[in-house]
Amino acid sequence: MPTIFEQIVDGEIPGRIVHETETTLAFLDANPLARGHTLVIPKEPYEHLDDMPADVASDVFGVVHELTPTIEDAVDADATTIGMNNGEAAGQEVPHAHVHIIPRFDGDGGGPIHAVSPSRPDLSDAELDEIEAAISEA
Ligand code: AMP
Repeated sequence: MPTIFEQIVDGEIPGRIVHETETTLAFLDANPLARGHTLVIPKEPYEHLDDMPADVASDVFGVVHELTPTIEDAVDADATTIGMNNGEAAGQEVPHAHVHIIPRFDGDGGGPIHAVSPSRPDLSDAELDEIEAAISEA
């Protein structure tokens, strides 16, 4: 069963496509959080960021880098929030990896990325050492 985003790639359902490359597609979010809310996807239906080969991830984030100022200009935004819900526990609903580019406006009442967590863990130095090592020595 193709993902809804594959169906947009294949032209089976309509999408407001704003940018296309050989490996990526960018289109307006159907339920935008702000004017100009855009999704950037790999055309292949990788579910998560780490399912994407490095060159495809690089293509996707290259498009995010290229398109962000264009989107800001198009809707006269003051800033953007950029992010992925990377996995179900993070709130990912469409199982086809995508980066959200959400235009932000002075006084729009929205929160920063820090709002995703209801609390902050109180980590000891030992725990931080362990995490640092687990990442840097992987
Ligand atoms: P996520 O929770 O990160 O998986 O977000 C999925 C996003 O896809 C939501 O912001 C939806 O509004 C958006 N979306 C779902 N279906 C479509 C569609 N057919 N065209 C454009 N955006 C869509």
